[in-house]
Amino acid sequence: KLGNETIKAELGRASWRLLHTMLARFPEKPSPDERDALKSYIYLFGRLYPCGECASHFRILLQRYPPQTSSRDAASQWGCVVHNAVNERLGKEIFDCGTIADKYHCGCAEEDEKKKK
Ligand code: FAD
Repeated sequence: KLGNETIKAELGRASWRLLHTMLARFPEKPSPDERDALKSYIYLFGRLYPCGECASHFRILLQRYPPQTSSRDAASQWGCVVHNAVNERLGKEIFDCGTIADKYHCGCAEEDEKKKK
């Protein structure tokens, strides 16, 4: 039982990291196609997330908090709010969403610099 809880928590940390990092890198001015892609990704994530209990709670959250895809900021704040809703249900600390822009890096800043040149 402890083993399963540990694995579930690791999966959760890895998944949140990927999700928040992806949202932090979402275009500031997304095209309709990019907005569609993010929306699909989030709904598919809710269907395919491998912890079934977590996924079904997440799908309920998606009804209450539909994915926000109009900008990087809107998407990142949405991610913070849904993660906080999960935190609340699990009795964890609530994260200050005002600080999220500084927190998630992909390690690909150099790549972006090259593209600009
Ligand atoms: P995590 O919640 O994994 O957070 C990792 C780090 O992200 C934190 O240390 C903090 O630095 C940062 N962070 C915290 N809150 C926010 C925020 N709001 N915005 C941005 N960054 C933040 N576990 C269950 O037991 N039952 C469930 O039903 C369940 N549902 C889940 C649903 C989804 C979609 C996901 C991705 C995970 C779910 N989990 C669930 C796992 C759970 O959310 C945690 O990932 C796990 O318990 C490990 O928690 P943690 O305390 O290490 O921090």
